[in-house]
Amino acid sequence: MPLVLVSSDAFERHLTPPGHPERPERAHVFDAVATAWRGQGGTVLAPRPATLDELAAVHDRDHIERIAGTAGRAAMLDPDTFTSPESYELARLAVGAALVGVDHAMAGNGPALVLVRPPGHHAERDRAMGFCLFNNVAAAAAYARARGASRVAVVDIDVHHGNGTQQIFEDDQSILYVSTHQYPCYPGTGAVTEVGFGGGRGRTVNVPIEPGAGDDDYAEVLARVVVPILAAFAADVTIVSVGYDAHVQDPLAQMQVTTEGYRAMLATLRAAVDASGGRLVVVTEGGYDLPALGACLDATVEVLAATPSPAAGPVADPAPRVSGPGIRGREAAEAALAVQRPFWPSLI
Ligand SMILES: [Zn+2]
Repeated sequence: MPLVLVSSDAFERHLTPPGHPERPERAHVFDAVATAWRGQGGTVLAPRPATLDELAAVHDRDHIERIAGTAGRAAMLDPDTFTSPESYELARLAVGAALVGVDHAMAGNGPALVLVRPPGHHAERDRAMGFCLFNNVAAAAAYARARGASRVAVVDIDVHHGNGTQQIFEDDQSILYVSTHQYPCYPGTGAVTEVGFGGGRGRTVNVPIEPGAGDDDYAEVLARVVVPILAAFAADVTIVSVGYDAHVQDPLAQMQVTTEGYRAMLATLRAAVDASGGRLVVVTEGGYDLPALGACLDATVEVLAATPSPAAGPVADPAPRVSGPGIRGREAAEAALAVQRPFWPSLI
């Protein structure tokens, strides 16, 4: 089942002020990845703009109108979040790219890797924040539901908590949100005790991890918490919010994940999705060191393009450890398991 990429060089035209980490050069990295994939004979699909109704599935009309009102000019929406004259159109294109990825995956044509900016996971139902205007992944999850998926999982491995995605679905039983993130860190949400509300209780899974965590820590969290919950939920469609800002070279956070650690995480997630017979869409979020971003995207393409599903990478030793590599992961996993066991009886 061949991988497709969804990408456009238009994303370089979303401009941010000089020195801003979410800068147009990130789109040049996406372009290089897409060009290399084409050079191997791979398919790169062009995005389409999301419709207003597709945006309104996850955003208030007031919010959409506020962003639309920035068309043709530069605006500061919060101290981190800016628009340029084309940003509204490009943010709609970023959402639409994720929907094209969902269409591909749901047609049974293999996984999709969606290369977009601005990112989306901090955008809440009624506000832009954290470099994000519209929530690309949330719109993709809602779209997958509208297209007939009964259960959709969003796995967010950006180093920051995806407050927007959590907020949009926190009372929705049909959409699982699982996040690993540095904690404490921006935006401050994502405590392990945040588990969703009402009918959505138990459909929000937060795994906050201490600063300084590396490959072993993330492997342990995925093996002990994320993969078992994905297996129990058995989503029809799984969407990964892939931020590469947990990388050791990233300037915005303090995690120590290597490119090989990201390769292992993507392999683990792909194997988990394949094991449950679901469909996989991977959508970019953060990642602000350009060489690390490029290397991690190359690794991601290799993992998603491999046939059959690659081995799941090093699986953490589940035996308790008191110190050394993996201690942050062990502590994070055990805290999350203690909170989540009532909702997921299969967790050990
Ligand atoms: Zn991030």
